Amino acid sequence: MEILFLGTAAAEGWPAVFCRCEACCRARAAGHENIRTRASLLIDGRFKFDLGPDTYHQALVHGVDLGLVRYVFITHSHSDHFYPAELEMRRPPFAHPAPGEEHDPGLDVYGNEMVVRKALELKVAEDAGEAGPADDGLESVSEPEAQPEPRQGALVRVHRVKAFRPFRAGDAELVPLRADHKPDEEALFYLFRRGGKTLLYGLDTGYFPEETWAWLEGESGRRWVGDGLDLVILDCTSGPLPGDRRRIHMNIETDLAVRERLLAAGLTAPACRFVATHFSHNGGLLHSELKAAFRQHLTERGLPPDTFIVAYDGLRLTI
Ligand SMILES: [Zn+2]
Ligand SMILES: [Zn+2]
Ligand SMILES: [Zn+2]
Repeated sequence: MEILFLGTAAAEGWPAVFCRCEACCRARAAGHENIRTRASLLIDGRFKFDLGPDTYHQALVHGVDLGLVRYVFITHSHSDHFYPAELEMRRPPFAHPAPGEEHDPGLDVYGNEMVVRKALELKVAEDAGEAGPADDGLESVSEPEAQPEPRQGALVRVHRVKAFRPFRAGDAELVPLRADHKPDEEALFYLFRRGGKTLLYGLDTGYFPEETWAWLEGESGRRWVGDGLDLVILDCTSGPLPGDRRRIHMNIETDLAVRERLLAAGLTAPACRFVATHFSHNGGLLHSELKAAFRQHLTERGLPPDTFIVAYDGLRLTI
């Protein structure tokens, strides 16, 4: 699988939208990897995690054809992860199939109850009910074609997903896991499996809740993960900030604690790679300094200094 980090910042971006703090001024001056847009991930050009307000800009910068994206998995409804107004642009007269293409398969969006509600309130998607193992997102492809004038949003279908209920999207399989992030909705993160490779997309999770650990470490998790995770992507919003940062977001220390527990549970493949992302200016460190901070934490524990990759916008990995 080809993995592209479209964005690697927390909600405010970095430099943050209206911020003039030292970390933002330094990032503006330094440019390059220090310019971080709101977090998102693209897999093989067809599967996307989250749909934030920087989506269009990211597509332009990284040469992505967003019309080829078929499935979008939303973690929760915070605006850096879900900016539903953009979905309106997925239908005519704002979007058309490529010349010669008979019909448009549309876009399938997966999210929790709050995400579904927001999409329906804005009338940017059609309610496709609960996602399930039998629903591969392909059966409804012919629907828009059957209607001469598709209803508003008919090309965009929103599916409800719930923690610990595996579902299928095209030739990929996923399991939503429960995060410790947003008390008024079931914030999720995902296991994603396709073509014999498995990854964990864990943004805005906090240290995973015990019920999530119980699922991962129990029979369901072990069976689902199989030969082990090939890639683990973790929230590092608080970066180098000290202390016990386990609720809502994580720091370097907590990322290492999650790694240790995944390893201890035997859930990682021998060549598993770990990536930290979703950084905030409040952590203060520019990209090279973040890399140095990770190296220091890892060396202190006697671990190889490259155990964690510090993500940046445009990072590409192959697993
Ligand atoms: Zn976020
Ligand atoms: Zn700032
Ligand atoms: Zn959030």
